[in-house]
Order: sequence, then C-alpha cells, then structure tokens
Amino acid sequence: MFFSKSFIPILKNNPSEAKIKSHQLMLRVGMIKQSSAGIYSWLPLGFKVMKKIEQIVREEQDRVGVQEILMPTIQSSEIWKESGRYEDYGEEMLRIKDRQNREMLYGPTNEELVTEIFRSSFKSYKSLPQLLYHIQWKFRDELRPRFGIMRCREFYMKDAYSFDLTDDDAIFSYNKFFLSYLKTFKRLNLSAIPMAADTGPIGGNLSHEFIILADTGESKIYTDKRIFDVDSSKTILDKESLGVLRKQYEKFYSVTDEKFNKDEFEKSVAEEYRVNTKGIEVGHIFYFGDKYSKPMNAAVDFNGKKEFVKMGSYGIGVSRLVGAIIEAKYNDTDGIMKWPMSVTPYDCAIIPMINKNDKSNLEKSIKVHEFLKSKNIETIIDDTDENISAKIKKFNLIGIPYQLIIGSKSEGNLYEFKEVDGETQKLKVEDICSQIIKAKQN
Ligand code: ATP
Ligand code: MG
Repeated sequence: MFFSKSFIPILKNNPSEAKIKSHQLMLRVGMIKQSSAGIYSWLPLGFKVMKKIEQIVREEQDRVGVQEILMPTIQSSEIWKESGRYEDYGEEMLRIKDRQNREMLYGPTNEELVTEIFRSSFKSYKSLPQLLYHIQWKFRDELRPRFGIMRCREFYMKDAYSFDLTDDDAIFSYNKFFLSYLKTFKRLNLSAIPMAADTGPIGGNLSHEFIILADTGESKIYTDKRIFDVDSSKTILDKESLGVLRKQYEKFYSVTDEKFNKDEFEKSVAEEYRVNTKGIEVGHIFYFGDKYSKPMNAAVDFNGKKEFVKMGSYGIGVSRLVGAIIEAKYNDTDGIMKWPMSVTPYDCAIIPMINKNDKSNLEKSIKVHEFLKSKNIETIIDDTDENISAKIKKFNLIGIPYQLIIGSKSEGNLYEFKEVDGETQKLKVEDICSQIIKAKQN
C-alpha cells in the first residue's frame, strides 16, 4: 500500500472535542469519523485494527468449542415482552415501528433472541451443552455517549450464550469462557483482571467483569495486587483445572465500585497489597440460571421431566477494545503509540527519501515491500514528498511498530531500521524480516 493512495486522513492537531488519548488519536490519525452523537464510521486504519481484534476474539471462542452464528440487529418486541425486559430496559433501548406498525427494536443484547432460537430447535438434553456466539453491532441509547468509541451508542460486540442441563454443567461452561477471555486479552497484549461484578439488568448471581487498568477508565477498582500474578497458562479445558483457575483468582479481593465495601477490602487485603485505581471494562460474563429460560419456556425433556435450561451470557466489547488498547499502550513521555503486533494495521512503515529527479529509493522500497510481503509482513510505503523526519513523526503518531528508512544513510544492502520507540540499527533486509517475524510470534 502506498501512503499517497491510502485513505488515512490525518489531522494537524488534536481535535479539541476529544478528552482522552484514545479518542484524540483515533480522530487525529483518521481511524474513525463521527457521523452523529455516539455513532461512528470506521475508516480503513481503524477498521483494520478492529477486524484483527475480532479475528482473535473469534479464534479464542472457537478454541473452547463455541459455535459462531449471526443474529440480526433488528429484533421483534414480542420476545422481550415474554422475558419481561421490554419495559425494564428503559430508554437505553432504541424502539422502532415498521410499516405494519409492529414494534421492533435495535438489539442492545441478545439473550431473548438466542433463547427463542434455542427453544424452537432443541428438545433433548442429550444435545447439551450448546455454546453459541455472534459478533454483531449493538445499539444502546446511552445517556451520555463519550470518549469516542469507548462509550458510544452503536458498537461492535461479541456476545455468547450457554445452555446447560444443570447448574454444575453451566458453571463448567462459564469457566470455559473465563479461561478463553484471559487468553483473548493476552493475545491483545492486555492484562485484563477478572473482577467480581454485579449482574445488573441481565440478572443472575455469578458474574465477572474483565478490566484493564487505565487512568481514563470509567470503572473504579479495588483489588489485591497479587491477582496480577496469577498464571493461567497451564490451565487446560477440563472441569477441575478450570475450577482451580477460578479459585486462584477468587482468592484475592477484586471488585469494581458497585460491589466495593471498605471494611471488607481493608480486612481482606493487607495495606501493602491494596490497589485502588481505575480501569476499562472490556468484557463481562454472567451466569443467570433459568432467568430467561423459565419465562420464555426454553426447556428440555430429562427422563420424562421438563427442565428449564440453565443459561449464561458472555460479552466482549470488540470496538471498545480498539480504544482500550490505545489507552493501555500509549506512552505519554515520548508522545508515541505502538500497536501490539497482533492487531497493528501495518507491521512496518517503509520510509524512502525521495528526490524529484531520483526515484531509486522508491524503487528499492517497492522491492523491500515485495520481499516482506512474501514473508507475510504487512507494510505501507510512504511515497509522499514530505521530508524524512515528518514521515517518521507521522508513523510515530499512527503507532506502526517498525520503521525501515531508505535514504542517504542506507549503505549497500544495509537499511536503517528501528522499532518505533527504539534505537536505529543498520540491518540487511533478511535480518529485518526475522526481527519482525520474531516479534509477531510473541
Ligand atoms: P458498561 O458498564 O461499560 O456500560 P455493560 O455492563 O453495560 O458495560 P455489557 O452489557 O456486559 O456491558 O456488554 C459487554 C461489553 O460491551 C462490555 O464489557 C463493554 O466492553 C462493551 N460495551 C458496553 N456498552 C458499550 C458502549 N456503550 N460502547 C462501547 N462498548 C460498550
Ligand atoms: Mg452499560
């Protein structure tokens, strides 16, 4: 991709309406464009990052045996009346009427719809558990949309649902998601802490929010810092191992403000371990038993007895994660940002010094680009007439992790190469390639 042909509308200055770094940067480097309050278009750079996050989320759902489906954005009000949530959900729900005057709505979440799908298709307990997910746009008419795509009205979410026969089986399903969330966030280079949470309007009694630490987060958190060191890497997908993992986390006091109790915090966490800070909620899992299956009559036949299925739901804010990664990875001292290799829009920027009469550096750039492409490394060539330092600044701002400079200091087959926040090295293209490949594998 040539920079001159790309649709990356960079702004000269930080937009004044944006209060937090991720919002400023996403507008500044042209990742998103607001279309109305809390509603955004995703431009190529932002869309590329979001798609990569989506793919990681998908792979980790697939890995624990969740099956992908796709439900519509528009739902009928009927099923929401059955569950009793049509009135309860209040003004956050966008209600629409079709030409037949039928009440419809833009889905804020999908418990009802997925329960409807399940109950009309499954009757035998032998086909349980069923674990289903989809990745789809949601609409919530938030009272105060703010911070760009972090709290907006239309957002992209992965939501999954589990159906089991017994509480015990359902907890096993819950724990599979618990592990898969830890793995998902790790692949995004984020350390997300599971915290005991309130279940809110979704209902039920077991719930964890996955929170990443960031000063600009909207959640206040109170935790024992030893929870940051819990290691989930050896946990396997078996009932016992997953139960042990959850206990390892639950050993430590770790809650958001809704569940916070000062006395309990001070009693259970010695002063040296207490952390009281802010975080961003990137995922939320709930177990709620038969809260929906009972009113909606989603049951299976078990030895001649009707059993309402036990359900849970599991969300990840795919679009919010784009901003959350910026908040977590932005380095204020250097004024630069560096995308994790797993989601970066480009692995490496190729920056040729271009003279009017001499296109040889540009030609070299194209050759280097072809070589790196053959090794699955994605690059963008900056073929504009800006000077080198302006180009470097631009890619620092965008956060492309590596920069390869082809200019007066390139000697023979050695090129200047640097990590966005690192020292310049002089390397052969083969060595550049292996450095990037190594970084991608971590
Ligand atoms: P919050 O407390 O932030 O409003 P929630 O508890 O309402 O979140 P869930 O219903 O559990 O959120 O939704 C699952 C995930 O969707 C959240 O963890 C969050 O990452 C994301 N999400 C929720 N609301 C928004 C929003 N308005 N804008 C962007 N992402 C959102
Ligand atoms: Mg909410």
